[in-house]
Parts: sequence; C-alpha cells; structure tokens
Amino acid sequence: ESREVGRQEALAEWGPVEIYPGPEISDDDLEDYVRRTVITYHHQVGTCKMGIDALSVVSPRNLRVYGLSGLRVADASIMPLVPSGNTNAPTIMIAERAAQFILDEVN
Ligand SMILES: Cc1cc2nc3c(=O)[nH]c(=O)nc-3n(C[C@H](O)[C@H](O)[C@H](O)COP(=O)(O)OP(=O)(O)OC[C@H]3O[C@@H](n4cnc5c(N)ncnc54)[C@H](O)[C@@H]3O)c2cc1C
Repeated sequence: ESREVGRQEALAEWGPVEIYPGPEISDDDLEDYVRRTVITYHHQVGTCKMGIDALSVVSPRNLRVYGLSGLRVADASIMPLVPSGNTNAPTIMIAERAAQFILDEVN
C-alpha cells in the first residue's frame, strides 16, 4: 500500500508528507474514505464501440448499429478505446463524420 511505501526509512530523507487522505484518517477508515470521495475521470467512452470484431456494436463505415435498421450512434460511446486526450473534441469529430455519412447517403 502507498502509505507503507511512503513510511519506509529509505524515503525519510525526502521528507514525504501524506496529503490525501491525510494522517487523520486511520488505516481502518481508508475504505470508507475511498467510498466517500472516489469519482470517475469524467471521460467514459466505448459502451457500444465502433469496429468490425465480434464485440463491436457500430459500423465504422456509416455508424449504423449492426443488426438494426434506421439506427446510428454518434457520440463518445462508440470510441473503441479511451483516447489519451480529453473526449469532447473527438466527440464533435464523430458528430461531424456522422453528418457527412448521412449527407452522402441522401445526396
Ligand atoms: C464533469 C466533466 C468534465 C469534463 N471536462 C471535459 C473537458 O474539459 N474536456 C473534454 O474534452 N471533455 C470533458 N468532459 C467529457 C465530455 O464532456 C464528454 O466526453 C462529451 O460531452 C461526450 O459527449 P456525448 O455526446 O457522448 O455525451 P453527452 O455530452 O453526455 O450527451 C448526451 C446527451 O443525451 C441526453 N440524453 C440522455 N438520455 C437521454 C434520453 N433518454 N433521451 C433524450 N436525451 C437523452 C443528455 O441529456 C445529453 O444531452 C467532461 C465530462 C464531465 C462529466
């Protein structure tokens, strides 16, 4: 555990100080602290990923949902992997591509 590592004699000269959760939280209360304070990283993606393998839900050619007619998905949920950067701009790019796919089919 991080606390145990931070308290090692070999690190003492570096003067490590515990900031979170802080020394006032006992080891026994760590789980409760985590349950109260944990949050997501706000960049959930990929619940119906785009791709061509067996787990893919959406086609990369036109964003249509496999096996259904008349349904496309165009949002962060189709990202096959979490991108290394933030997700708002890629989501807008997906929307732009979706608009073009639709225009290409009606024109
Ligand atoms: C707190 C926070 C901070 C973030 N900060 C950043 C940042 O700084 N930079 C960045 O790039 N990304 C950031 N993101 C991520 C970014 O906001 C998302 O990746 C992006 O908005 C995803 O777009 P989306 O269209 O997939 O989903 P959303 O933006 O969540 O859009 C989904 C829409 O569907 C609507 N909806 C849901 N259910 C229904 C229903 N049944 N019927 C009709 N409408 C429905 C919702 O109301 C919503 O408008 C942040 C996210 C959060 C939560």
